[in-house]
Amino acid sequence: MSAIPKPTHSDPPPRDAHRSDRRSSGLGWGERAATRAPVVHAFSVDVEDWFHILDCEGAPDVASWAQQESRVERATERLLDLLDQHGHQATFYVLGWVAERHPDLVREIARRGHELGSHSHHHGLVWQSSRDDFARDLDLSLEAITRASGAAVTTFRAPGFSIGPAEHWAFPLLVDRGITVDSSLFLAQRAHGGHPLQRLRPFELVLPDGRTLLEAPVVPLQLPRGALPWSGGGYLRLLPEAALLRLFALSEQAERPVITYVHPREVDPAQPRMQLPPWRRFKYYVGLDTVLDKLGALFSRHAFASVGDVARGGLKDPPAFLADAA
Ligand SMILES: [Zn+2]
Repeated sequence: MSAIPKPTHSDPPPRDAHRSDRRSSGLGWGERAATRAPVVHAFSVDVEDWFHILDCEGAPDVASWAQQESRVERATERLLDLLDQHGHQATFYVLGWVAERHPDLVREIARRGHELGSHSHHHGLVWQSSRDDFARDLDLSLEAITRASGAAVTTFRAPGFSIGPAEHWAFPLLVDRGITVDSSLFLAQRAHGGHPLQRLRPFELVLPDGRTLLEAPVVPLQLPRGALPWSGGGYLRLLPEAALLRLFALSEQAERPVITYVHPREVDPAQPRMQLPPWRRFKYYVGLDTVLDKLGALFSRHAFASVGDVARGGLKDPPAFLADAA
């Protein structure tokens, strides 16, 4: 097995950097944290606009994206400011289409010391793409983000976490292009795929040709009646703050970094509303005015770093061998 890639970004914050100002969550984990290294979680933002909603008839198609009001810059700045306020680093998975139109935003993310990743160019689901289309779209996104920032991109997240067992062919294409950390696996059933692999923390993916990639998956809470995802998007909007704090405390007790993810539209309560069926309307617009406060509560109690730094911060789970990936 190849060696784990060496860090190429700034080191994560000192592991006790946030201990002194953590308020008690009333959960008692602070006392336990004093006897073991605190867990550093990953915070990530999928940088796309309010109309980049997947697989939805009411959403504008690619041809009309350019005619829509763009709100991604202002909403992303709210997240950048909150991260600055608490001194945390994060990964921003930028849609190449957004990077082409907002190169200043890409530069601002880099200027504030965060990691830049690709979230594809046109936000297509991987399981709906051919290999050639996926590769072409990935190249467009990497070019757009690199052109804006001047730095190579080394981390990727598929739209809708849409890499399942049938899409393992995507991994060699990512490695070919210098991607060393992927965060496209969602280890629970979901509308846009999900992956049945059982892991609790970041791990190493070993390709059939021996090349490796670090994977930082979204890991659900395992309950007797099934897996419950909770660490981003609609789950973060829907769950009360106390439940989120409790779930972070449980993760820390298990020494598991949480891979947290949000979209800029989730901190933009004034975004235009699309015509959606009732369930999807609820799913996309519930709790929009709660996210900044919840993130503030999490940021003041826990340590966060980029996905790359968390994935490179030490692997406790076994590697996965993608022997069946062509
Ligand atoms: Zn997305």
